[in-house]
Amino acid sequence: MLAKIENKVCRECGITKPASEYYKHYTNRDDCATYCKACTSLIGKRYYNANREKIQVYRDANKERTKTYNRMYKAVDPEKTRARGKAERENHGEHYKKQGAIYRKTHKEETRVRNKLYNLTGMKVARKMLSNTYVKSLLTKHGSGLSFRDIPIELVALKRVQIQIERELKKQTA
Ligand SMILES: [Zn+2]
Repeated sequence: MLAKIENKVCRECGITKPASEYYKHYTNRDDCATYCKACTSLIGKRYYNANREKIQVYRDANKERTKTYNRMYKAVDPEKTRARGKAERENHGEHYKKQGAIYRKTHKEETRVRNKLYNLTGMKVARKMLSNTYVKSLLTKHGSGLSFRDIPIELVALKRVQIQIERELKKQTA
């Protein structure tokens, strides 16, 4: 994705660096983070080291609260949440992919069992609940050319209603 600007002054080190040296941050006007990648990493490490215990205690104590908060945030501001997710994937997608591959290699048996279980029960549940993934899989089934990520949530919602109506009709005519 092309950045809106070519260069930017980092607010931490004060050096002018190309946009590629900044993480994506789509709620900033220029789509770029305030600090360069190198500084972001240093700031994060500095903060983590200075607050290691506090962070762990907070995380443990607030797991549920954080989950609820994130869910609420998503409901109130879906657009911002999507922007965050998009930036997260573009900034760290490679890292997640690598971590996932390593995990699957070192946890072969778990992965196999989980996949099997998922295929057996997950699809059934997903089909019944009309989960986002399930509805998206229907929308991309017949070579629509859409990728999961490109499907607008409004379209998913529409498709879900359509399926619900079809299911209801089937029930009544059965
Ligand atoms: Zn910097």
